[in-house]
Amino acid sequence: MTETLFDKIINKDIPADIIYEDEKSIVIKDINPQAPIHLLIIPKKTIPMLSSADEEDKEILGHLMLVAVKVSKILKLDNTFNIIINNGANAGQTVFHLHLHLLSGKSLSWLPA
Ligand code: AMP
Repeated sequence: MTETLFDKIINKDIPADIIYEDEKSIVIKDINPQAPIHLLIIPKKTIPMLSSADEEDKEILGHLMLVAVKVSKILKLDNTFNIIINNGANAGQTVFHLHLHLLSGKSLSWLPA
């Protein structure tokens, strides 16, 4: 599998603003923030998109959710944030290495118009 942009960030080959890191995940600031707080919660395992995850990824998927909560507490987001996963190019995914967007500080209008 070719190295993704996020693999390069995980390997510290390219810089990023790292907010949190553990053995299974890394959390960085999005380079093009869509809200006052816009973080990307990224597994160190390269899973291209949510729909390519399988049974063996159960633990890491749960871990990413709990990391979101942990980071929200570190940043004192007062239990107020949105988690978004874009799955597939037609749904707006541009980096094919699974990631959760965590947005806070802005009311999002709900997607279906
Ligand atoms: P998605 O469109 O869901 O695949 O999200 C990819 C996100 O990665 C976008 O919100 C980009 O702004 C963000 N992004 C792209 N390059 C970088 C980078 N070098 N550092 C941090 N975030 C990035």
